[in-house]
Amino acid sequence: MNNPKQVKYINLPLQYKQLKKELLKNIVTIFETGQFVLGPEVKKLENRFAKYCDCKYAIGVANGTDALFLALKALEIGSGDEVITVPNSFISTAGTIGNIGAKPVFVDIRKDYNIDPEKIEDEITDKTKAILPVHLTGRPADMNPILKIAKKHDLYVVEDAAQAIGATYHGKKVGSFGIAGCFSLHPLKNLNACGDGGMITTNNTDYYETLLKLHNHGLKNRNECDFWGYNSRLDSIQAAIVNTKFDHLEIWNKKIRKLVDLYQEKLHGIVEFPEDKKFEKSVYHLFMIQCDDRNKLQRYLSDNGIETKIHYPIPIHLQKPAKELGYKKGDLPFAEKQSERILSLPIYPELTPDDIKYVTSKIKEFYEVKK
Ligand SMILES: *Cc1c(COP(=O)(O)O)cnc(C)c1O
Repeated sequence: MNNPKQVKYINLPLQYKQLKKELLKNIVTIFETGQFVLGPEVKKLENRFAKYCDCKYAIGVANGTDALFLALKALEIGSGDEVITVPNSFISTAGTIGNIGAKPVFVDIRKDYNIDPEKIEDEITDKTKAILPVHLTGRPADMNPILKIAKKHDLYVVEDAAQAIGATYHGKKVGSFGIAGCFSLHPLKNLNACGDGGMITTNNTDYYETLLKLHNHGLKNRNECDFWGYNSRLDSIQAAIVNTKFDHLEIWNKKIRKLVDLYQEKLHGIVEFPEDKKFEKSVYHLFMIQCDDRNKLQRYLSDNGIETKIHYPIPIHLQKPAKELGYKKGDLPFAEKQSERILSLPIYPELTPDDIKYVTSKIKEFYEVKK
């Protein structure tokens, strides 16, 4: 055991090795044309992205956080408003709601890590403007009841689909259910750039036109400004990179699915993980388990050369900026309990079945020794 096998949590250099030729060719084209901002690669990606997500429109933006920010801004949500979301997401989801001046209102989650629709209505007030579900780990949130509640109370639905490109719910892609779908192209997401990038999807033409201006200084053409806007555009180089990678997304997702099947088979009865329901297809941005003695297991795996992560160890309602909102420990018991039991195991297309067998054998070993 002096030199255990290594299983990295993520291995981007390995992906680069496989795509090097295509990637570099497409980047060079950008230099040769000098079209660094907007231009044909961005347009091409937007069109592809929209089509892939069953949406009419997509707009490239600077990152996933800006996608959320601009999506909410374009709905004129701000000071005095409330937005319902979850306490277990990347900090950006709630942070963005706070940054536009609105109040994030947290609703507890279910075993599948997503918002519990049955708990949403209790939190709706006359200030509520939108519901912002997160498709965490790449699994779609339960959209039908969410859309029903939104309709009944006249609320917008904005999807945080940063982890979930390609996931479907009753056969429809995430990002196509609400007024907006917000995606991140951060290097750690399933479809990624070599730096920051993001995308907003929508089916609403007026909203799309507002967003187009909002992400480009409020300009409706080169010289005329309709309102104060932002500079949040997707770089052409990043768009060219993502266009290259897009060709591989479906194959990657299939590979990931096979690896997840193996994880599930090997870990059945040893640790818990959400079941895949018939009407949903998760793209498994993360393979997250729930287990006893999580910290000890994580250390044991690390001692055996296996990297794991926790998404996320501190529920957002217990983070410093949420204190002034009046949240305290015990308010969202399910999310709090989960945060102590979750562990994300390595999952990416370049992983091999042997890697999974090694990881699962070490997990088994840990619980056997413990007994
Ligand atoms: C990554 C992520 C974001 C933010 O995306 P960036 O591109 O990093 O700004 C937002 N929400 C969730 C759920 C994410 O995973």
